[in-house]
Parts: sequence; C-alpha cells; structure tokens
Amino acid sequence: MDKELFVERAVVDSILSYAQMLHPRESILLLRGTVDKHKLLINDTQLPPFATHGKSFSAFPLHSLPIDFSVMGVAHSHPSGALRPSATDLNKFYGRIMIITAYPYQSESNLAVFDRQGSPLKYKII
Ligand SMILES: [Zn+2]
Repeated sequence: MDKELFVERAVVDSILSYAQMLHPRESILLLRGTVDKHKLLINDTQLPPFATHGKSFSAFPLHSLPIDFSVMGVAHSHPSGALRPSATDLNKFYGRIMIITAYPYQSESNLAVFDRQGSPLKYKII
C-alpha cells in the first residue's frame, strides 16, 4: 500500500477485548476511518449490522454490507492462534485492509494488518 497506516490505540483495544469476549467463537468488527492521498487512519470499530455471534468470518455475508465509504476493512479473530489470513479470508477481503487478531489476543503482538494480497502491512498505533 502506498499510504502510511495509523490505527488508534482504542481500536486495537476494542479488537483485542471483543475477541477475548467471544472466544472460542470468531469475532468480526468493521473498521472505520479516513483516507487521503498520504495516509489511512482507522479510528473506530462497528459491529456489522447483521452480526450473528459465533458465525465465522468465512460464513459472513460481506457482500450484503451497505456501501459505506468510511468502512476501511474488517477485523476478525482466529481462535486457532494463526496470525495470518487463510485463503478464504483473502477471497472474502472487503475494503482496503484486513486486521487479524490471533488467540490469546493479549497485545498488539497478537494482531496484524494485511493487504488484499495477504502481505503484512506496517502500521503505527497512535
Ligand atoms: Zn480468518
């Protein structure tokens, strides 16, 4: 990605604590933010409008999300502990970035950001 990527601390905390709360089920959150020529900022999370707890990311109907240009991507958890996207995750990629948090969801070392190709992206927590 050709932009600097920033994620607010509160967003990281919400993703980790929501994943802990739903474990061993998968958690899914929409990532909201702003984008300009030089940077992408994630500053809010939102429950998907038709979230069913326990539905896995791969079974989630992302295609039926309303078009909302403040949604920059989706965060979901991997109760298995794998900190990388699966082939299905990449097929279901929605938005500009994907955040995955892996069990035990304790800190940002259990969280990673990926692009559409599944390559890890550098980001700064602000
Ligand atoms: Zn996944």
